[in-house]
Amino acid sequence: MLLDGKIAAALLADTGLWRDFNDICDCGGRLAGTESEKRAFTLLRERVRAASPANAGRSISVPYGGWRATRATLRLSDGSLAACHPLVRTIATPADGLAAEVIDLGRGTPEEFEAHAADIKGRIVLVRHELMFAAGTIHRRRKYDMARAAGAVGFLIAGPLAGHVVAGSSGRQSGEGIAALGIAPETAARLARRATGFPTVTMTIETAEAPAETETLLYDYPGKSDEWVVLSAHVDGHDLAESAMDNGTGLASVLAVTRALAPQVANFRRGLRVMFFSVEEWALTGSAQYVEQLGAAERGKIALNVNLDSVAGSSSLAALTSGYAEVEPFVLSVAEANGSAVRTVRPLMTNSDHANFAAAGIPALRLVAGFDDPAANLRLVLTPADTRDKVGQADLRSATLFTAALVAAACNAEPAEVAKWRPSS
Ligand SMILES: [Zn+2]
Repeated sequence: MLLDGKIAAALLADTGLWRDFNDICDCGGRLAGTESEKRAFTLLRERVRAASPANAGRSISVPYGGWRATRATLRLSDGSLAACHPLVRTIATPADGLAAEVIDLGRGTPEEFEAHAADIKGRIVLVRHELMFAAGTIHRRRKYDMARAAGAVGFLIAGPLAGHVVAGSSGRQSGEGIAALGIAPETAARLARRATGFPTVTMTIETAEAPAETETLLYDYPGKSDEWVVLSAHVDGHDLAESAMDNGTGLASVLAVTRALAPQVANFRRGLRVMFFSVEEWALTGSAQYVEQLGAAERGKIALNVNLDSVAGSSSLAALTSGYAEVEPFVLSVAEANGSAVRTVRPLMTNSDHANFAAAGIPALRLVAGFDDPAANLRLVLTPADTRDKVGQADLRSATLFTAALVAAACNAEPAEVAKWRPSS
């Protein structure tokens, strides 16, 4: 359970961790389909090759519905323009815009949608972006779906950070949908209902859609058996900033753990499979395609998926165990043996690639920093403030050390222990 002293020392001395994190941020926000995303893949290839020149890895093609917004504006009733950001895969509006009344549903809970069911049809729904890494969070995509189902013609979501818009995906795959924009909290305040009625806005969105292709990168480091522990992180992000916490931290951490463990894995009971997914921010598409094509036997050979998404930006670390209760004592024992404080959170949260593994019956967890901490820098994820200055080097290093300990322990866990992780079917 205790991470091998030599591996720990190598990780503590690895200057590549901070270099990689900064280099990934330098690639830009990595929105899928942009040059920024391609630069990040090139960088990841180069860094893995430097760590293990003999391992060429494998690129898996990922076809998806390509999309970009060529124009997005939000005009208020006084004629002024408010800052806005198109949600990923929003539909376009008519060329002269979509003008409609705005109904403010506050946070956008199911209760609020229900109580206002008769008021929503034909209007634009306004809701708030919530701290994503907290118990009881209602995901933006659920609110978008509730707005659509109630007959809304548009969707506005207000970010948490004064003066800044918020990004995110609408979750729409193809076909029908409603126009969707992220806005700043000050704009939302101006759209409050008045005694005289609902305020009117005009949303104008132009998009270009075409079939597109990205990739999943996979590197296998075999152990002594044909079983695997999958260590994953998503490459893509949003074009507001650097997507530093989400998920520059996870990528840099996976690279460092790969450097440290790759030379050792041949002596481990199970192999290490390193995976870099994309179009995660587009409804977890890359990992969905990978897990979907795995046969039952291949799924059975994956002992555990450890998915790193936003692992620094706070000193607190949580393992979201996706309903796999028996994984929790294992995670906690690794944390205790290595002097890390890690909390486990059980409900399945479909907020990153681990959810696709978990849904397919593969024990899976996501490591995330700042869970349930409204003051943590993680509250700034999906805003232009998700920049590298929000990440402490010491936090990134401790998350990386814990990941290495967890992955090494999972690779070497007794078969009886690993069998317990999978609920008997
Ligand atoms: Zn993420």
